Amino acid sequence: MKLLPTPEQAAVLSHTLRACNQAAGQAAQIAFERGAFSRAGLQKLLYCQMKARGLSAQPALHVIRKTADAYTTLHAQIRAGLLGERGSPRRTEATSKPIGFRPDAAQPFDDRCLSWQLDTRTVSIWTIRGRMKNLSFTGEPSQLKTLAEHRRGESDLVCRDGKWFLMATCEVPEAEPYEPADWIGVDRGIANLVTTSDGHNHQGRSLERYRRRMARVRAELQAKGTKSAKRKLKKRARREARHAAHANHTIAKTVVADAQRTGRGIALEDLKGIRDRVRLRRHQRATLASWPFHQLGTFIGYKARRAGVPVIEVDPAHTSQGCPRCWHVTRRNRPTRDVFYCMVCGLAGPADHIAAVNVRRRARTAWVFVNPPHAAVSPPHRQRQSRAASPSLFRGGQLTPGKVFGDPAS
Ligand SMILES: [Zn+2]
Repeated sequence: MKLLPTPEQAAVLSHTLRACNQAAGQAAQIAFERGAFSRAGLQKLLYCQMKARGLSAQPALHVIRKTADAYTTLHAQIRAGLLGERGSPRRTEATSKPIGFRPDAAQPFDDRCLSWQLDTRTVSIWTIRGRMKNLSFTGEPSQLKTLAEHRRGESDLVCRDGKWFLMATCEVPEAEPYEPADWIGVDRGIANLVTTSDGHNHQGRSLERYRRRMARVRAELQAKGTKSAKRKLKKRARREARHAAHANHTIAKTVVADAQRTGRGIALEDLKGIRDRVRLRRHQRATLASWPFHQLGTFIGYKARRAGVPVIEVDPAHTSQGCPRCWHVTRRNRPTRDVFYCMVCGLAGPADHIAAVNVRRRARTAWVFVNPPHAAVSPPHRQRQSRAASPSLFRGGQLTPGKVFGDPAS
């Protein structure tokens, strides 16, 4: 929800956020010095100090929790090896000093420090100067509806480029997945972000142009290297991310609506191998690394769960090289990135579309396999498989019911 504070209210919000993050910075310093990182330990150590800084009970606890969580994340990253070996510059940099908090880092508010008045579209929120009432907010009609029906738990107060937001957590129930009549195969690519087995392309060229233009501007700003250039760079990066997210939302919405309307499920390639699968020229590798392919899958996943559309992930190996007519698989079936031409039977077409058709075929095979018509009398190994990947797993938090490997063609 976007907040619409008066200038006075904005000043108080700004003061509040700064105070909370300064307090978190102090908490992080003390935690670092004492080597105490657990939530309970920090609470004992810091609660009175936080109160003395003008934070009331709940915000004090939130600040302490935020600090403890930040250390938990850092330690998990170190354990996972994301910051390199012991003694590497990055890891040393991260562990040699307390965690810092930006002055405008997000701050969580629970129902005791934040209450929503939906009829007047205002909130009442704790601030460092006492309770602030009648703080107006606004949002899209669909967002307001979701907020009214499903908001639960905490919200984050966030300031971005001088604008104020409350990020409210909503828990939207999922629909019971239906038995799909067939599958829509979805191929994700660079030129066409999404191509379906129905032959529908989603955006692509125009977005690639946009991204190239952004990359040019980025390079210019990076070359400048001044402080204001860096600020602009950050702002641009956020705008670009919003643009990409918007495109992904739109595409995901269309694909899910298509599937729901026609009673079909959605089949996606498991993305783990995508870097090896697509052949790219050097300048495109950067595109692949920065383009949120993964985000599109996530968006399709949650929108599908909400609509009861089953989603399946299939093995991506050779989907772009196999012929859907004669099943001949060879790299030479792809003379160029955009064109498929079967060496054996001569079938030709746009490569993305062929790949999507292959994904669909794999999903059909997989679905029969995980959903045998006579599961009760099938041999033991078949039964095990059907339990391991039964459709009920679609209802869980995961997008995939278990990987399905290959098909007779590959
Ligand atoms: Zn063929």
